[in-house]
Amino acid sequence: MPIAVPEYRDRLEAMTAEALEEYYAHSAGHKRAYEIAAIYERHADLSTLDQARALAEQDAPAELRRFAAEAYVGNGVKHLSEDIANTEAELTVAFDGEDVPYREVRPRITNEPDAGRRRDLHARRCAATEEHLNPMYEEAAELERELTSDLGAPTVLELYEGFGYDPRGLHAETSRYVAETDGLYREQVDAALRRRMGVALEDAALPDFSRLWRAPEFDTAFTTERAVPALRATLAGLGIDLDGQRNVELDIEARPGKRPRAFCAPIRVPARVVLVILPQGGQDDYQALFHEAGHAEHFAGVDPGLPAEQRLLGDNAVTEGFAFLFEHLVSDPAWLHGQLDFGPVDDYVRFNALQKLFFVRRYAAKLAYEIELHSGLALDSLPDRYAGHLSGAVGVPYPRGDYLEDVDGGFYCTCYLRAWAFEAQLRDHLRTAFGSDWFRRQAAGDLLRELWSLGQSLRADDLLRELTGEPIRFEVLADDARAALG
Ligand SMILES: [Zn+2]
Repeated sequence: MPIAVPEYRDRLEAMTAEALEEYYAHSAGHKRAYEIAAIYERHADLSTLDQARALAEQDAPAELRRFAAEAYVGNGVKHLSEDIANTEAELTVAFDGEDVPYREVRPRITNEPDAGRRRDLHARRCAATEEHLNPMYEEAAELERELTSDLGAPTVLELYEGFGYDPRGLHAETSRYVAETDGLYREQVDAALRRRMGVALEDAALPDFSRLWRAPEFDTAFTTERAVPALRATLAGLGIDLDGQRNVELDIEARPGKRPRAFCAPIRVPARVVLVILPQGGQDDYQALFHEAGHAEHFAGVDPGLPAEQRLLGDNAVTEGFAFLFEHLVSDPAWLHGQLDFGPVDDYVRFNALQKLFFVRRYAAKLAYEIELHSGLALDSLPDRYAGHLSGAVGVPYPRGDYLEDVDGGFYCTCYLRAWAFEAQLRDHLRTAFGSDWFRRQAAGDLLRELWSLGQSLRADDLLRELTGEPIRFEVLADDARAALG
């Protein structure tokens, strides 16, 4: 007997909490082995095919249907998910007489001043991905396609279109953005690479970009010790007492096995939200800390009375939007002057605008590629397509072998892309309503708390329309890039 909507809603919350607790413990280095299969087994009746079909037939809310479909697919690939995470955790890359843990290679590259050594490390990481991880990624991708067809959708793309996603519509907008910003991007990124790295775009390699964005030239302003105090002071300006928030936990110390990529684990919303970062030094750490703090404050502020799907699920462009709003503060001239010991800020503000242009173009290319990946094309045709899309948008060769590793499941790239535009419009609204130092106004904090309390009950488009009367307009991002860099 399939479970009815009210019970399903309650039970998915317990399963989500266990899955996120496991992800957090493994990824933060508290637990060596990643064990997700046991969690699927404990909640086996939430992830059956019958259950996913029954919710579809009952016309359950789209987010519950999506959860059930993702649980069915996730259950089918659970052993591969464990194998991938556990292989990655144990894998090392031989470099310079040392075995560098696979997960530490990327931060090593960002902190490596020598271009030859960066490229060598990058090539060794790519080879390890291809040899040790890709066989499992490929098996999982094939299996995901089979499980999707069990759910009655011909392709993963169509499955997500059935949940209200519109990757193809968004792609029409993002490809316009890529075309419109092409000249500006190439000219500005070439100048930045020449000036900061001593290499022209045409001679640059992907690991040079990792180093470019690490930007050690700004380290004297962005010291590691100042990061959390700056966050605490910023939140205080909005009327938030970080240390008094019992539902927000900061996991910021270094420990073996901790993943370098920052994340927020909303284990119980709003009762237990964990923010995890592993400082690597410099401005990047501040962006990561503030980004994750945006997620943490959003989830910690959700009305506990909302149904589970509006607190835990929903349109992740909303939470990414609040994360980008906080991340953007780090490059706001008024914030920089108020919080950090910064001389002239123009160089850093321009640098940051260029970094954003790079990331939006990179994600636009990921979307173009993922539409192909999820349209059911033969896997062996995909490495070239991946490298072609990414290299075209970014301007340097991309490794073909990253064609499955560099994908966040469930078209998550559409959430980031929509969130960038949502955030630009939300920020504009805050500046108009409260002034350019809106982040020092309690009233702006009150408005944010009101928005956060809604959780993800509204899609980002509807939330923005309620607030400003406007839809998400992707073209604001090209306008912003031209204004900042043109
Ligand atoms: Zn995020």
